[in-house]
Amino acid sequence: MEYPQIIKAPADQHTVIPNIENYDQSRNALTWNTIRNELDIFDNDHINIAHITIDRHLKTDRREKKAMIWESKKGDVEEYTYAEMARLSNKFANVLVNKLGVQKGDRVFFFLERIPEIFIGIIGTLKAGGVIGPLFSAFGPDAVKDRLEDSGAKVLVTSPTLKKKIIDIFPELPALEKIVLVNRNKKTLDPDDLSYEELMEGASENFDIARTHKEDYAIIHYTSGTTGKPKGAAHVHEAIIGQYATAKYVLDLHEDDIYWCTADPGWVTGTSYGMFGPWSNGITQVIYEGGFSAKNWYSFLERYNVSVWYTAPTAIRMLMKAGDELPRQYNFDSLRYMCSVGEPLNPEAVVWGEDIWGKPFHDNWWQTETGSIMIANYPIQDVRPGSMGRPFPGITAGILDEDFNELPPGEEGNLAIKPGWPSMFRTYWQKDELYQSRFKNGWYISGDKARQDDDGYFWFVGRADDVINTAGHLVGPFEVESVLIEHPAVAEAGVIGKPDPIVMEVIKAFVSLKEGYEQSSELLREIQLFAKKRLSMAATPREIEFLPSLPKTRSGKIMRRLLKARELGLPLGDTSTLEDD
Ligand code: ATP
Ligand code: MG
Repeated sequence: MEYPQIIKAPADQHTVIPNIENYDQSRNALTWNTIRNELDIFDNDHINIAHITIDRHLKTDRREKKAMIWESKKGDVEEYTYAEMARLSNKFANVLVNKLGVQKGDRVFFFLERIPEIFIGIIGTLKAGGVIGPLFSAFGPDAVKDRLEDSGAKVLVTSPTLKKKIIDIFPELPALEKIVLVNRNKKTLDPDDLSYEELMEGASENFDIARTHKEDYAIIHYTSGTTGKPKGAAHVHEAIIGQYATAKYVLDLHEDDIYWCTADPGWVTGTSYGMFGPWSNGITQVIYEGGFSAKNWYSFLERYNVSVWYTAPTAIRMLMKAGDELPRQYNFDSLRYMCSVGEPLNPEAVVWGEDIWGKPFHDNWWQTETGSIMIANYPIQDVRPGSMGRPFPGITAGILDEDFNELPPGEEGNLAIKPGWPSMFRTYWQKDELYQSRFKNGWYISGDKARQDDDGYFWFVGRADDVINTAGHLVGPFEVESVLIEHPAVAEAGVIGKPDPIVMEVIKAFVSLKEGYEQSSELLREIQLFAKKRLSMAATPREIEFLPSLPKTRSGKIMRRLLKARELGLPLGDTSTLEDD
């Protein structure tokens, strides 16, 4: 399939990003200060994410507006207004400070299902001046222990079921003083368990939000573990400036939007854009506790009239796998704008969005470390399928050579950002040396390879670790994978370099098939031929192997390092974020 070079932005698109069209990177167009002035910050040096996100709206018409509509796995619905979110998070802040002795800077971790209490608890902790750490509920005991130990967490908020899963780790966590259990199903608790419900019942509804300094820590987010052991990226309260601005201009949130972010609060997308970004903009968001299935998701989009939808390439590929007939059975008239993050978004997926919804997915690029979106496709800009878009105003992105000097457009190199944006991580927790090593020659080095075209659009090549060196050519796995998934039988593809005595590395591809296709040597040859026709000699996979599914992180990212380790019979390394088969 030949992709259109560009997908034109709709002519009636009125959301204007200040001066982005002629943004000259001078930072004059949209400065962080202009953004700061839109928000009700305490003063130039003091800001609290919880205040900007929730409580500042209480002085406005948004007071009784719905902040969160939550649908449980069973289909029960709960709705919370901004005023209720403020009231409940005040109570939780009082619980922390008055009943659990939490002081400013103490780490409070959440190992909870995707239920309202995780949202309330996180806002409450920030109000109390604590540092939050959300953990994905599907983690096993070792993954939870590593993160609680590394962060020195003092309080853990969890549920009876999840506590049972990790019961053995507690004796090994001396810093952990209190365990609070959210007991929605009213199970009998152990005598020394603290009940969230009981603690909340007696707590006052009034709380003076901590006047945190803009550089005070607010969140520790562990990275996804795609390339190695997860690191604890620590963010400060100032981060909200970047999250607010990008939610407004990249996710294009408007006052009457119904917004759905599909990421779990355990990942940075689930907090930056599943709490702080949308709520600082006063938006109503819907939260779905249930798991993924194409049917569930389509009917959720329809049922809640979702207008802005933020999801990930892996989910889009799974929806594509379920076929084109299914989505046509639903009414998506409300759906106005769709975005994607987390992995490269194959052009095939962008075009598929156009086909099914008449609008493309808008890809954007950022990392746990960057805290907010750095490079994006915007509503007013034409989409170039396969491109991550252009830097957000106020962000300077560059492509650097191996000595960390800037390269001209067209050349591949290290994707880097000029430090100083509000939501930049301020350290890797307990690993400051590693943090320092990520800054070179006045740039933050992202660890990804990319190139820029003449119009300033950035194109992802691959993670630096995944780029393949074959016969003197550097090949990014993304390019090869994108071609493979264009084949009608291929659902997913993961590409690695396999050491070779002659050409250094040869390209090996692993593919999983769509439903209805059977593995066979003919199909293998057909896919090989298909790839050969579309790729340069160097980029054509020498070997292709079928796998029932590819190893992925729990956030859905293909773990190429595992494909490689398995292929070479090497140790697998940290697999704490590996999805169960
Ligand atoms: P770890 O750092 O532990 O290996 P990770 O890098 O996957 O895990 P995250 O911070 O969640 O952890 O992911 C950021 C990375 O995801 C980016 O560095 C990039 O490789 C990839 N990524 C995110 N968005 C995009 C995108 N739009 N296009 C291409 N790659 C993306
Ligand atoms: Mg990373």
